[in-house]
Amino acid sequence: MVRVRFAPSPTGNLHIGGSRTALFNWLYSEAKSGKFILRIEDTDKLRSEKKYLDEILDSLKWLGLKWDEIYFQSERFDIYRQYSDKLLKEGKAYTQKPESGTGEAVIFKVEPQKIKINDMIRGEIEFDSSLIKDQVLIKSDGAPTYNFACVVDDALMNITHVIRGDDHISNTPKQIMLYQALGFALPGFAHLPLILAKQGGRLSKRKGATAISEYRQMGYVSAALVNYLLLLGWSPGGNREVIDINEAIKLFDIKNINKTAAVLDLDKLDWMNNQYIKNEDPEKLALQAIPLLAEKGYINPQDFDRNYLISLLRLFQSRLTTVHDFIERADAFFVKDVIMDPQIQEKFLARDLSREFSLFARRLEKLENFDIANIETAFRELIQELGVESKSLIHPIRVALTGKTVGPGLFEVIYYLGKERTKERLGKFIKKEQA
Ligand code: GLU
Repeated sequence: MVRVRFAPSPTGNLHIGGSRTALFNWLYSEAKSGKFILRIEDTDKLRSEKKYLDEILDSLKWLGLKWDEIYFQSERFDIYRQYSDKLLKEGKAYTQKPESGTGEAVIFKVEPQKIKINDMIRGEIEFDSSLIKDQVLIKSDGAPTYNFACVVDDALMNITHVIRGDDHISNTPKQIMLYQALGFALPGFAHLPLILAKQGGRLSKRKGATAISEYRQMGYVSAALVNYLLLLGWSPGGNREVIDINEAIKLFDIKNINKTAAVLDLDKLDWMNNQYIKNEDPEKLALQAIPLLAEKGYINPQDFDRNYLISLLRLFQSRLTTVHDFIERADAFFVKDVIMDPQIQEKFLARDLSREFSLFARRLEKLENFDIANIETAFRELIQELGVESKSLIHPIRVALTGKTVGPGLFEVIYYLGKERTKERLGKFIKKEQA
């Protein structure tokens, strides 16, 4: 049975690169009805932090990458010690006292040899171990090194395929020597292509190495992010980009992963997010929007009209890049006074529209059934009465009501603002004598 693992160190947040590794492992286990194992590599007690662990677990859950088993390396020091003792006993390792301090390190003797990796993505790669120094297995403070703990665990956890980033390729020959010395069977290895920043170079804090939790806060939807991550090194073929995860599971294979580096294109992620937001259940969007609206003071999260929020999300969703956009574009529905950009006001509301606005307000006032169709009829009749083009009024009315030049259909906007708020906002641009 296929058993794969994702092995993050809780010394930082989960970023794009790590989550792509997690996703590809998870996908492979799903594709092969195998198991996906999460192994927390927390051997560095000083740098490992609970807040990072929580963030990694929450992000994986949010992305929908459920693990079948979880292990913590910090709880397995005795096991690593057993295997370093074995290597010492067999003369394959030796001990060394540190220059200062106490304890004793255990060091692996590297024998000169040619090491071949049969990488499932890159093919055969050969290393010459005479270029590799003797390897520390256990440090003098008793903690195992990454390469040693990784091999012992991958073997004992019966990992069949090690799928990880290309940045680990230089560790693989070191690990292969340890498999051989310990008499463990080798797993398959697959090194995922690097992810480069669009500006060139590796991802860094300034170049898109943003935590998954931040993407979540910015209002990306998890299915879109997963779909986007999927394209970082893999493609369903035939120029397809939007692909349902269940279909991806059916089509996914390690052999089809690209050899060449992937490029993180945040514009593409935005495009992808819009594709998903358009079709997302507004109830789900609401879960992401509520904390953002509350933070702005637009709603009291304990007491607000949920159905109204859902209707607004439905009204806006086709135009949103992120849920965060909703907060900016739909603010007029949550604030008392419209926030008006003076330049926009100057452009659309400089001329005196008192007569037009008051006639429209009166028509709206008279509507018994204040629904979208009737609002539209009231507007069309007004246009006829005034003998003007509809666009000469649509834009000024929209700006007066929302402070924006674009948005959903005007009649829907009026409907969701309601009669009173619409009249009040139009009233601000009606000179007293006309009212
Ligand atoms: N803890 C290592 C990392 O975060 C795991 C590497 C591996 O998958 O072997 O990069």
